[in-house]
Amino acid sequence: MSKPVHSRRVMLQILGAGGALAAVGCGSSGPSCNDTTGVDTTMRTTLHYVPASPDPARRCSACSLYTGGQNGCGTCQLFPGPVDPNGGCDSFVARA
Ligand code: SF4
Repeated sequence: MSKPVHSRRVMLQILGAGGALAAVGCGSSGPSCNDTTGVDTTMRTTLHYVPASPDPARRCSACSLYTGGQNGCGTCQLFPGPVDPNGGCDSFVARA
């Protein structure tokens, strides 16, 4: 009968390292508001949406069409998918 390749201690070290990596992936770098996988980006492109507005006064977070969401990203009433609160586009409408 062969000896197990990994002892219990080694297995626990591997699992611990995996847990630490999972923790890093789950939040320390923050969520991405730019993941448009599976999202129709036609309007986003047409309106020249950018994830970082060149004009701080015209950020999505100051736009009346923006709705803040969980995990730091929001949504825009004009197109689907996540929107960065620091983003901006041609259709900015200042909050009243
Ligand atoms: S309409 Fe407003 S919320 Fe939507 S992308 Fe443009 S600036 Fe952001």
